[in-house]
Amino acid sequence: MSDIAFLGLGHMGGPMAANLVKAGHRVFGFDPMPAALDVARGNGIEIAADANSAVAEADIVITMLPSGRHVIAAYQGDESTLGLLASAKPGTLFLDCSTIAVDEARQAHDIALAAGHRAADAPVSGGVVGAENGTLAFMVGASEEDFAAAQPILEVMGGRIVHCGGSGLGQAAKVCNNMILGISQIAVAEAFVLGERLGLSHQALFDVASNASGQCWALTTNCPVPGPVPTSPANKDYQPGFAGALMSKDLGLAESAIDLTGVDAQLGRHAREIYKAFADGDGANQDFSGIINTIRAQSAATDV
Ligand code: NAD
Repeated sequence: MSDIAFLGLGHMGGPMAANLVKAGHRVFGFDPMPAALDVARGNGIEIAADANSAVAEADIVITMLPSGRHVIAAYQGDESTLGLLASAKPGTLFLDCSTIAVDEARQAHDIALAAGHRAADAPVSGGVVGAENGTLAFMVGASEEDFAAAQPILEVMGGRIVHCGGSGLGQAAKVCNNMILGISQIAVAEAFVLGERLGLSHQALFDVASNASGQCWALTTNCPVPGPVPTSPANKDYQPGFAGALMSKDLGLAESAIDLTGVDAQLGRHAREIYKAFADGDGANQDFSGIINTIRAQSAATDV
């Protein structure tokens, strides 16, 4: 059993830390939000006075923070606060599970190694339900040795753990997957609105496309219209699911990676534009399949 520091006890980190306690690990937690600390305390997490005290005794430090800026600031500290890297015992394994940019992940990895520690990027998919049920998918960027050290801990919180390669490649896998997802959810939504205009029923389009070459997760699990897939967010007034704000964030990270690499990813860039407008409007807290309502509303009123 390990001594683990867990920083960022929000929607995802809270239940992930609780699963580590359930599995018998000792977990020292910290989050600046008092409400998050109250829930964590109830789940058996030992609340530290601050982030530095949480990491001081730990063998493994897990971060589940809003952005790369938060991760690097926490690792490095500033004039008034000692960073986590300086507070940890030599050789501590720093496991960042937040979704951040590939270049930020590599920077976090490099400064952790330079400070005498070990590091891995291990972003997740599976959302809050996956975090609660311990069924998250982890995409890991690390050396073979650091991956082997992280794996037993990740297995407590996840169902599928994929070693994607070295530093930053966990984030690379996440950004590529979510770029496919964002583009395909828009494609499915456009097809349903087009079908509506042509007089095609939702069920007929679903029955054809779900058994043909249009088949994809955005259609068969996250179907953007109510009816064909009773468990999809469309049947619950587009309650997430995966919120529009998170899809917009992830496509922003995809766009940074596109800029960095110079890839001619026109659909990835366009999907980012579409989801940014959705999240800046009223879609931030809706499931991202709610983009169908924007497409319908923006479609010209014509009689076919
Ligand atoms: P959240 O806002 O609920 O939680 C983040 C927590 O970090 C907050 O409680 C905040 O107070 C805390 N925090 C900020 N700075 C801190 C610091 N220096 N030390 C300790 N705690 C600090 O966000 P979330 O939904 O739990 O998401 C966390 C990460 O997981 C994000 O990077 C997100 O993109 C990613 N993610 C989220 C989901 C999802 O469905 N929510 C799915 C996959 C990945």
